[in-house]
Amino acid sequence: MAETFDVIVIGAGPGGYVCAIRAAQLGFKVACVEKRATLGGTCLNVGCIPSKALLQSSENFEEAKHSFKDHGIEIEGIKLDLARMQARKGEVVGANTKGIEFLFKKNKVTWVKGAAKFTGANAIEVEGKAYTAKHIVIATGSDSVPLKGVEVDEKHVVTSTGALELDKVPDHMVVIGGGVIGLELGSVWRRLGAEVTVVEFLDKIIPTMDGEISKSFQQILTKQGFKFKLGHKVTSAKLEGEAVKLTVEPAKGGDAETITSDVVLLAIGRYAYTEGLNLTAAGVETDERGRVKIDNHFQTNVPGVYAIGDVVAGAMLAHKAEEEGVALAEILSGQAGHVNYGAIPSVVYTWPEVASVGQTEEEVKAAGVAYKVGKFPFMANGRARAMGCTDGFVKLISEKETDKLLGAHIIGPDAGALIAECVTAIEFGASAEDVARTCHAHPTLSEAVKEAALAVDSRPIHV
Ligand SMILES: Cc1cc2nc3c(=O)[nH]c(=O)nc-3n(C[C@H](O)[C@H](O)[C@H](O)COP(=O)(O)OP(=O)(O)OC[C@H]3O[C@@H](n4cnc5c(N)ncnc54)[C@H](O)[C@@H]3O)c2cc1C
Repeated sequence: MAETFDVIVIGAGPGGYVCAIRAAQLGFKVACVEKRATLGGTCLNVGCIPSKALLQSSENFEEAKHSFKDHGIEIEGIKLDLARMQARKGEVVGANTKGIEFLFKKNKVTWVKGAAKFTGANAIEVEGKAYTAKHIVIATGSDSVPLKGVEVDEKHVVTSTGALELDKVPDHMVVIGGGVIGLELGSVWRRLGAEVTVVEFLDKIIPTMDGEISKSFQQILTKQGFKFKLGHKVTSAKLEGEAVKLTVEPAKGGDAETITSDVVLLAIGRYAYTEGLNLTAAGVETDERGRVKIDNHFQTNVPGVYAIGDVVAGAMLAHKAEEEGVALAEILSGQAGHVNYGAIPSVVYTWPEVASVGQTEEEVKAAGVAYKVGKFPFMANGRARAMGCTDGFVKLISEKETDKLLGAHIIGPDAGALIAECVTAIEFGASAEDVARTCHAHPTLSEAVKEAALAVDSRPIHV
């Protein structure tokens, strides 16, 4: 006899575990199937959380080595204890994954341990046991995109998962792909002493970013010591002893060259993960990129089967997956669950951070919308000067006629926290004038957002 639930969620990442908890809050009998030994998915185990733990530790190390002197703090003999740094990262991850286990117990969500596979439209099997549910949610996430000719061994040629586990600082790390994950993990190892070269196929880093921000970001990273090979592609990686020899060619054609490094990080993107799910048994359709196809209410082509998070189209971000998880649970209970995809922030947790929400200037221009731009540099912000973090600026874009905020782009200290105000403004349909007329505490970095909003109307005070 199959065990029956109201809702079965497959995958306990931020999409799945949040959907399961919200569904349980709404009174459903819920199970969440997870094949990993711990809950929390990519995000908590090998993604957002461990990368941010190492980013924080490496930032502290770099500060202690290079910036403390400016503040009149002299410390002799600063040493790296990488084993301790990695152990701390493990503790942070453990506290977070255990936290989800606690939340499951608190909300009476049953954790079914093992890999789920469909046996029919509303039926799955986990480790030989049958389960059925009125609603089944696919939240199986994503995995690293492989590259032909570059074989991953997670030691010399690593994905982000291996890059989080290195037990020695590489002398030279080559990052294939100038996207968020490559630049964040490249920053970790550069701060700890590695020479870092980024090879990117396109002619700019993070191509989805506002062009001006992307240019400034690359300049700042170059100043920090990053080397960039834009417009180039890697065609093969060969391990010779402890060295990896990479063949790199200009993307538009030309002579190949060899780059030697001791660690290569392959970070060219992530693909929707549905391996072993046996989607065909349920009749669930995927698109040309293997993503589960859904309608506006997260339902697949099969009634009662839904999908959310990285496994469907859209930004591969933990908070986007979470929003979808909540919205779906609410829709299943008859409420009007909704995700505003125009107000999903994205953040690069380097230093300085880069954060954005809404449309880039290029997108607004392409849409033929008349617009205004206001910018304010952190160099002119008192708090940024006090922190010694004056790189970067805030850029706000509003519609010319109505002044409605269309996009916000920040490169600078704590940009990831500063963007929250702009997300709220966009969510509420605010104008740049609304932000400009809002009182911001002094001295805070957030005053740079207010000043950029004033600059939209050509009346900033401090520049
Ligand atoms: C290095 C790195 C850093 C990142 N940093 C950030 C960040 O700072 N901010 C951000 O927003 N996003 C970040 N991301 C992206 C973020 O991790 C993902 O967007 C997010 O985890 C997606 O959530 P999800 O629930 O869709 O899937 P996932 O988190 O991938 O979870 C899916 C889960 O499903 C399980 N599963 C798969 N198939 C089955 C099956 N058949 N049966 C049972 N279980 C199954 C998997 O084991 C996995 O645990 C980062 C990703 C990486 C790799």
